[in-house]
Amino acid sequence: MPPKSSKNAPHFGHSSQQDFNKYKIKANSLGIHSRQFSRNALTVVEKLNRHGYEAYIVGGCLRDLLLGKTPKDFDVATNARPEQVQAIFQRQCRLVGRRFRLAHIMFGRDVIEVATFRASHSSHHSENHAKQSEQGMLLRDNVYGTLEQDAERRDFTVNALYYSPKENLIYDFYHGIDDLKAGKLSLIGDPITRYQEDPVRMLRAIRFMAKLDMFLDKASDKPIRELAPLLKNIPPARLFDESLKLLQTGAGVKTYQLLREYHLFEQLFPALMPYFTEKGDSFAERMVFTALNSTDERIADNLRVNPAFLFAAFFWYPLREKVDILKNEGGLNNYDAYALASNEILDLLCGALAAPRRHTAVVRDIWLLQLQLLKRTGKAPERLIAQPKFRAAYDLLAMRAEIEGGESIELVKWWHEYQFSNTQQRDDLVHEQNKITPNPKKRSYRARRKQRKTTTASNKAAN
Ligand code: ATP
Ligand code: MG
Repeated sequence: MPPKSSKNAPHFGHSSQQDFNKYKIKANSLGIHSRQFSRNALTVVEKLNRHGYEAYIVGGCLRDLLLGKTPKDFDVATNARPEQVQAIFQRQCRLVGRRFRLAHIMFGRDVIEVATFRASHSSHHSENHAKQSEQGMLLRDNVYGTLEQDAERRDFTVNALYYSPKENLIYDFYHGIDDLKAGKLSLIGDPITRYQEDPVRMLRAIRFMAKLDMFLDKASDKPIRELAPLLKNIPPARLFDESLKLLQTGAGVKTYQLLREYHLFEQLFPALMPYFTEKGDSFAERMVFTALNSTDERIADNLRVNPAFLFAAFFWYPLREKVDILKNEGGLNNYDAYALASNEILDLLCGALAAPRRHTAVVRDIWLLQLQLLKRTGKAPERLIAQPKFRAAYDLLAMRAEIEGGESIELVKWWHEYQFSNTQQRDDLVHEQNKITPNPKKRSYRARRKQRKTTTASNKAAN
C-alpha cells in the first residue's frame, strides 16, 4: 500500500503505462551515459535482460554519478529470483546472505551485487505495521516485490534511482533527481516509521550529509534525537561496520560533529561520554578530533587508514585513567596495569560496537607500544622501530604531544630524528640517551650490589 503523504506517493497498482512513463527520464538529458558505468555491471544487466528479466543499475552509484563523483561500487536490481540469477551465471555466481539472499557475480576481484526486487513489510500488511511491535524494527524484509515496491523500501529518495542501459532511461519514482539538485536528503515514506524499521538509517543520513554535503529535510531531521536510542537494538557487529563507513570515508570530522549534534555519537561510543565536556575541549575530545582530522588528511592524500589506530586514539585517555586507578588503588605495576586496563576498555568499546579481534589486537599493540616508546637506551629503539605497528604508535605519541604538551614533545622529536637518521646517527642518538639514563638493568645491578654491601656492612656492625 502506498504511503499516505502525497509528496512521497506515486500511485501504482492501477496505474496505466502512461502514468508509469512519467517516472522515466532520458539519461542523456541528465548527463548520464552508459560508458560511465562499470563494464561488469552492464554485462550483468544485459545478460539478465537477454534472459527476459528486468534489470537496472541502482542506488548509490547513480546518485554519485549524478553528483559528478566516482562511485564506489555498482549494484544491480532485478525481478529474477536469486536461483534464477544463479542459473544464468552459474559458477560465476555466489548466493550470499541469510536474511535476504543476494547474488554476487564475480569478475575476478570485482563483485557485482544483484538483489531481487523486494517489497517492504508494510506494503504487504497493514499500514499500522509500525504500531504493532513496540519498537517497529523490521526483522524480516525478504518479501519479493515489483520494481515500484523495491523503490519504496529504499531509504532516501536520492538512493531510489534506477538506470536502464537498454532503454537509456532513469526511473525516478520519488523526485530523487529534484532532491539531488537541491542537495536534499529526504526519507521515502513516514520518517518515524522508516527510522523505527531500521535505526541504522539515522546513521546513513549523517553519513550522506557529511560525505555528499547535503541537508536533511525537516521531516527526516526532526525525529532523530528522540529515536537515537533505538540504535541499541542493532547488532554491535553491524554498528562497527557502519562506524567505519562513517569515520573513515574522508569526512570524519564533519561526521563526528553531526553525530554529536544529533546525539548519535553516544550510541556508538557510550564509554567516551564521561570524558565529554560542555566546552568540548577535554583531552579525550581533542584526541577524537585530532585523530579524525589526521584520518581525513590521509584519505585526501590517498594513504591507507587503519581502523585500529582510530580506536586506539579515541580510547587512549580513558585507558590512561583506568591505568592510574589500577596502579594507585590496585597496587599493580605499570605493565600489568596497562594489560588489564586494555582488556577492560576494549570490553567497554565492544559492548556497543563489536570490533573484530584482528582490530582489537592491534589496538592493544598500539597502546603497549606507548610504554616501549619511553625506552631509548641500548637495543630497545632498534627493536622497536622494526615492529609493524611502530608507525601507528609513533603517530599516537605525536598526537598526545600535541594535546598534552610537556615531556612527550621532546620524546616525539627524538623519535622523529631517530626514524630519519642513518645507522651511525642512530647509534649516536642512543649513546646520548645511555649517558642521560644509564641502562636500567645495569643500574639495578649496581643498586643491588650497593644494597648487598650495605647489608653486609650493617650485618657486620650488628655482629
Ligand atoms: P555508498 O556510497 O556508501 O555505497 P549506498 O547508498 O550505495 O552508499 P549501500 O549500503 O551500498 O549504500 O546500499 C545500496 C542501496 O541500498 C542504497 O542506495 C539504498 O537504495 C539501499 N539501502 C541500503 N541500506 C538501506 C537501508 N538501511 N534501508 C533502506 N535502503 C537501504
Ligand atoms: Mg553502494
